[in-house]
Amino acid sequence: MFRGELRDVPDDVRPSEIVRIEDSRGRVVGAGYANPASNILVRILTRGEEVPTQDWAREMFRNALTRRLERMGDVPDLRLVHAEADRLPGLVVERIGGYAVVSPDTLGAEEVLMPWLLGEIEAIAPRGVVLRAIAPVRSREGLTSRLEMLRGAPPDGPVIAQEGDIRYEVDLFGGQKTGHYFDQRENRQLCGSLSEGRRVLDVFSYTGGFAIAAALGGARETTAVDSSAEALAALARNAERNGVSVGVREENAFDLLRQMVRDRERFDLVVLDPPPFARGKDHLDAALRAYKEINLRAMRLLSPGGWLLTASCSHAVSLGDFVAVVGAAAADAGVGLTRTAVRGPSPDHPVRVEVPETDYLHLLALQRD
Ligand code: SAH
Repeated sequence: MFRGELRDVPDDVRPSEIVRIEDSRGRVVGAGYANPASNILVRILTRGEEVPTQDWAREMFRNALTRRLERMGDVPDLRLVHAEADRLPGLVVERIGGYAVVSPDTLGAEEVLMPWLLGEIEAIAPRGVVLRAIAPVRSREGLTSRLEMLRGAPPDGPVIAQEGDIRYEVDLFGGQKTGHYFDQRENRQLCGSLSEGRRVLDVFSYTGGFAIAAALGGARETTAVDSSAEALAALARNAERNGVSVGVREENAFDLLRQMVRDRERFDLVVLDPPPFARGKDHLDAALRAYKEINLRAMRLLSPGGWLLTASCSHAVSLGDFVAVVGAAAADAGVGLTRTAVRGPSPDHPVRVEVPETDYLHLLALQRD
């Protein structure tokens, strides 16, 4: 809860203290951990009279594991805890190549939830526990970056994550935000299932999630585009590891798409999975213009009957906004497209209807006339 939403805040609230919130009539609304240094003074953990304890946190953790098992089966590499979506605000836990990777974004996640859950986390991570606390949002909580082993020895190089039939390397001590974007798992499978015999372009490829799924799905030719040389080097190793060939282009996607339209290139399947263009509501208009631009260009590259898989992972861009902007791009491009699917993140990133921020990833599958 934001400081401004609370009245009668005692002066002596301590960092990471578990506090109770009462309404104006003195009824207990819930309890959470506090951080006097943050705008978000209290993050609610429990509602009503229930008191958050280590046993409570363990129950939340076990629930998170059980739900994933029910929804996804026994998957080796995945996100096991997705913060608010699993009622553990600020805390992300992933399992990658036998390691647990713990990423607390808030003071309470680091000082309360993580110690409470370390035993449970260790139990699901035979090779060790990595603390990967490098998200820029930590500074709003007065926290600095930490990247260290909490248990076990560090890996001597990248570790290998398995996603269906695909094996990827993940650099736990480098790489981008999370090392691997597990949230597109099912959408990559969709990409693979549409790729047989097709000429595929994977734009914003990172280490090749979609491109390798396409190549393994029987694509005639696959090209991956990213501005990061490091990501493309990992992609090339991943392609080899999976026995497929993927062409890579280290380019600014906006420029390259423009050039490809000019050159009258044609693809039968284009994937657009850009980074979040809108970090907050302030950037919404600029983000929508950027989405429109890349979608319009990608549509112009589609061969008749070709597919566009287009995603947005901007929290500030709702599904309605995204559908509208893609529709406007199609109108401007003069291209007829049928929307065959609207998809969200993989089940290890649960979307909770009462927590709108968890509904951040949208992917549309579109087929050209
Ligand atoms: N599709 C990927 C995840 C993409 S993350 C997967 O399935 O794993 C977004 C990627 O966009 C990052 O790798 C980043 O390097 C790249 N990127 C950001 N801005 C870019 C730009 N202007 N041109 C090309 N790539 C860009």
